[in-house]
Amino acid sequence: GGGGGCVTLRGAQIRDLLDAKHNVLFDCDGVVWNGETAVTGAPEVVSLLKQRGKRVFFVTNNCTRPRENYVQKFSRLGFADVAEEEIFSSAYCSAAYLRDVARLQGKVYVIGCGGVMKELRDAGVPVAEEGDAEPGASIYTCPLDPDVKAVLVGYDENFTFMKLAKACCYLQSSECLFLATDPDPWHPLRGGRVTPGSGSLTAALETASSRKATVIGKPSRFMFDCISSQFGLDPARSLMIGDRLETDVLFGSNCGLATVLTLTGVSTLQEALAFRDSQEPQQKHCAPDYVVESVADILQALEE
Ligand code: PLP
Ligand code: CA
Repeated sequence: GGGGGCVTLRGAQIRDLLDAKHNVLFDCDGVVWNGETAVTGAPEVVSLLKQRGKRVFFVTNNCTRPRENYVQKFSRLGFADVAEEEIFSSAYCSAAYLRDVARLQGKVYVIGCGGVMKELRDAGVPVAEEGDAEPGASIYTCPLDPDVKAVLVGYDENFTFMKLAKACCYLQSSECLFLATDPDPWHPLRGGRVTPGSGSLTAALETASSRKATVIGKPSRFMFDCISSQFGLDPARSLMIGDRLETDVLFGSNCGLATVLTLTGVSTLQEALAFRDSQEPQQKHCAPDYVVESVADILQALEE
């Protein structure tokens, strides 16, 4: 995959593309919803695809919720019958990686949020306790747990200098794994605001430790391997639909999937065309095969 032509799809072409695919992977934010609002037509598209016998998966870099919490969100936003098994988040996949791939012998030190903690607990991966932030604790005296064998960084609204300092100490041992839930730089919020993403916190720790994190979320292949190990997907019969070129489309390219950019989220058609026309092979991998205005275009195409 990679080096897509950015072809804008219309009715019959969308139908032909879907006829050739059995699995549809949706990114979440910017594709099926924006924050707490469903993208118009998205719930109907998901239902219709399932009715037509397609397998549908949701692949999100948002590590703030555990899977069961996503099930509730889908239901609240009008998506009928989205099952926990269909949802692959960077938190769930990070826990799966530590348990099944790294086979961690020891504890993980987490810079992250509730979603990551819950998935680690569900996977039976031991987490180093933060040790009640004692008043007066300093970078000289804060306790370090000798059983820590991995550091995992994700989105953390309670990120502190102390957490960065501790993680940095753990990473001085070359035997300590360094993982990041996802590399996202920032995310759009309501009202034109943005929030820094996991990638910005990871970058701080990469600089402090002179090491590079292993990324679990998109655009890394691991999320696709995780789905594949459970459902046996054929990349040639799978489609990735996303709104961010450097994460979703690059992920699809890395995994050998056909890619669709939808314009209801972060990236624009102009950015897609710039990637397509770039001379850099790495940039070309961020160019989607196809472009639609919205996933709602699929609804129209299938109902015609
Ligand atoms: N991480 C956080 C903290 C977010 O708020 C978001 C989007 O809202 C994401 C990641 C990206 O999620 P997705 O991969 O579904 O676009
Ligand atoms: Ca997105």
